[in-house]
Amino acid sequence: MGSEPGLMDTLAEHWEIAKKLRSLQIHFDPEKCKGVWQCYEVCPIGCWTPDYERRVAIFHDPEKCVACGACVLQCPEDAIELK
Ligand code: SF4
Ligand code: SF4
Repeated sequence: MGSEPGLMDTLAEHWEIAKKLRSLQIHFDPEKCKGVWQCYEVCPIGCWTPDYERRVAIFHDPEKCVACGACVLQCPEDAIELK
């Protein structure tokens, strides 16, 4: 059981990082968006919807975003920031 305090410390640290990540918010610049839909395809929560007519993504669920960063990494136009 000697390793238990170490494990708890690690979990506590992980939780702190997760909380910090969750306080980050998506900033989306629709002017840069080219409508390639990677954000829509990678978001595990379904925060994005394609507007096929206007060829622009819609970020419609900011309160559900878990700040995983997947859409930021996948957007080829740098239209999405997490800060
Ligand atoms: S950061 Fe993650 S959860 Fe939030 S919108 Fe992007 S892909 Fe979805
Ligand atoms: S990945 Fe970027 S360019 Fe593609 S639809 Fe999403 S925001 Fe627009």
